[in-house]
Amino acid sequence: MPLLERVSFPPLPSEKADIGVIGGSGLYDPGILEETKEIKVYTPYGEPSDYIILGTLKGRRVAFLPRHGRGHRIPPHRINYRANIWALKMLGVKWIISVSAVGSLREDYKPGDIVVPDQFIDMTKKREYTFFDQGVVAHISMADPFCEHLRKYLIETAKELGYRVHGKGTYICIEGPRFSTRAESRIWRDVFKADIIGMTLVPEVNLACEAQLCYATLALVTDYDVWAEHPVTAEEVARVMQENTEKAKRILYELIPRLLEKPDPGLCSCCKSLETALL
Ligand SMILES: [Zn+2]
Repeated sequence: MPLLERVSFPPLPSEKADIGVIGGSGLYDPGILEETKEIKVYTPYGEPSDYIILGTLKGRRVAFLPRHGRGHRIPPHRINYRANIWALKMLGVKWIISVSAVGSLREDYKPGDIVVPDQFIDMTKKREYTFFDQGVVAHISMADPFCEHLRKYLIETAKELGYRVHGKGTYICIEGPRFSTRAESRIWRDVFKADIIGMTLVPEVNLACEAQLCYATLALVTDYDVWAEHPVTAEEVARVMQENTEKAKRILYELIPRLLEKPDPGLCSCCKSLETALL
């Protein structure tokens, strides 16, 4: 049974979109959309991170939401992930492209590189992880947490544009807002074998799956995490972030018009994630 029939919600907004983009640090306005307008979406879970920018790109309707709010107001542990995903679902979005800045836990995942992770490890501590808090119990499969169809598109597009892209990687999500200690960073790298580190993937990815949306992450490496003992200046990080933001915009600009109306059922089971999850 579709998720929307199970939980009460305010009236659907009249606006619609096909593709949702959640922008991370540095990406507060995609700047690639036409006929834009900003709308406020109300959800049963409270307010999303900001007004949603609705617009078109070569005929595709796009809804853009800056994860931290414009001006980077909301720290990772205070983001209302449920409201963000719910708002995009209410707009009719089928796909969510999530953009995020990450640290690298490997020498060969360099600052400026793009990673399209295929796995994650959750080390967050106190977030709202599910839409199914009461009344209905759902245990969704997270064996393969990302949409393979969308991952494939992201990797192909990044390669075509000539960017250095890694088509696999394990994203470890920490609670933040502090960064890791040296001891923690070594554990993530040497014991957990994670490749990149960030603070915002979980529970965004879980909730997208519960909402039966196709979700994948474009992770942009800004620096090496503290394990590398490789001090960087704020200017270096700012420069890499600026370049990464431009790369993300180029990828979105090329990719969005290619996304088909419906995901390929051969590659994607995201939109059926609840079929075997409800008890
Ligand atoms: Zn999918």
